[in-house]
Amino acid sequence: MAKRITGRCFCGAVQFQFDEPPLVARACWCRDCQYLSSGNASVGAIFRTETFTTTGEVREYYSTADSGAAMRRRFCPKCGTPLFSEDLSLPDFMVVRAGALDDPELSRPQSTIWTASAPSWGFVDPELPSCGGHPAPAGKT
Ligand SMILES: [Zn+2]
Ligand SMILES: [Zn+2]
Repeated sequence: MAKRITGRCFCGAVQFQFDEPPLVARACWCRDCQYLSSGNASVGAIFRTETFTTTGEVREYYSTADSGAAMRRRFCPKCGTPLFSEDLSLPDFMVVRAGALDDPELSRPQSTIWTASAPSWGFVDPELPSCGGHPAPAGKT
């Protein structure tokens, strides 16, 4: 029996779950993520969409990422928590903003991406692999 992974937005109006743990998590310094994470890198956990279920109303925002990818981002309209982001060309995967997971230990970043967009004070973990821009596919944050 797989361990169920649960999460919610800040106010609790949106709840979600997956039947399996994230494939990978990474810290992203792209400019878009800086808006969504209060100036720091955003930690995103990449899940397979297959077992995803959610309750509660979300709003969507569509934009083009720095990589050129068409993205859909979903957030709670009540409290504003950024929850999910998806590259529309990769429907099998979705990124969950790590802060929304009930167990933040599940989303320890394994790499840092878009480091070239980080401010001079931005901390990039030297122990982790990193890249200055867009990494190989498998979902984007
Ligand atoms: Zn909320
Ligand atoms: Zn990003």
